Amino acid sequence: MSPHHSVIDLHMHSTASDGHLTPAELVTEANRLGVRTMALTDHDTVAGLPQAAETCEKLGLTLIPGTEISCVWEGKELHLIALGITPDEPGLARFLADQNARRADRAQRIAERLRRLGLPDLLPAARRAAGGGQISRPHFAAALVELGCCPSRAEAFRRLLRAGKPGHVRTEWPTMEQTVETVHAAGGVAVLAHPLAYQLTLAWLRRILTAFVENGGEGIEVVSGPATENDVRSAAALARRFGLYASTGSDFHDPASPWIRPGAMAPLPATLPPIWDHPRIAHRFNRSPAPA
Ligand code: AMP
Ligand code: MN
Ligand code: MN
Ligand code: MN
Repeated sequence: MSPHHSVIDLHMHSTASDGHLTPAELVTEANRLGVRTMALTDHDTVAGLPQAAETCEKLGLTLIPGTEISCVWEGKELHLIALGITPDEPGLARFLADQNARRADRAQRIAERLRRLGLPDLLPAARRAAGGGQISRPHFAAALVELGCCPSRAEAFRRLLRAGKPGHVRTEWPTMEQTVETVHAAGGVAVLAHPLAYQLTLAWLRRILTAFVENGGEGIEVVSGPATENDVRSAAALARRFGLYASTGSDFHDPASPWIRPGAMAPLPATLPPIWDHPRIAHRFNRSPAPA
């Protein structure tokens, strides 16, 4: 085990969204790498949780039920990690059904845009890549590679799928406020995912975090994937300034990207309160008794 290794990983994806391992395979891989407590946080879905729970039970891992939700604040698309949710809570279920409809609709519009560029209809291949899971842009990237339109998935994003590129469509994601409210009603806490990955200025991040705290958001990912020491310092400063709990997660998707592995993250700064100490979800971490 490398020194950069955490036994807690609260951000990972499976085939229920854009990950490459089934929930069972993901849990098995996380366990092999020494992770003891994990959250499965597929994009806008909780469909992978039952299988993950079964495998966690078998292998003796603690599963924190989660999902990574796409939302928007003042036109900026953000990802919130919901942790410790009750997956079948009706309000959350309705919310995620709407997300599913938005993603299905967006997929059709992406395919249409790409057709207008003279490319073949990519929807069938993208749907196949999604394999019944929540459809997302990486599935279009895979389809573009499969049909020989792009040499690599990274290139597909660079040329076509990223914001500002011809295959990108705007999506009416729910607001940050609605999202935080839904997560709370489902018993979870809301964590701003990968704050440094949005390519926003510090001024924008501060405005977003001011609103996030006003909305009742609880945490921020201080350690995200292969974060450098500088990244951790910057994110830790934001956590401190806004009084947020600190979270950590690999954002693992694909074993073919060896620089991101379950549990392979820098440690959380010891001076910050970790999200597993948040009173609403602490009992799920086997660290304190369940609330009465
Ligand atoms: P979506 O939620 O459908 O908009 O897809 C976003 C997902 O695409 C992210 O969660 C990443 O897994 C992946 N992604 C985003 N940007 C890139 C990129 N430049 N190259 C490869 N994958 C990306
Ligand atoms: Mn993803
Ligand atoms: Mn994300
Ligand atoms: Mn993610």
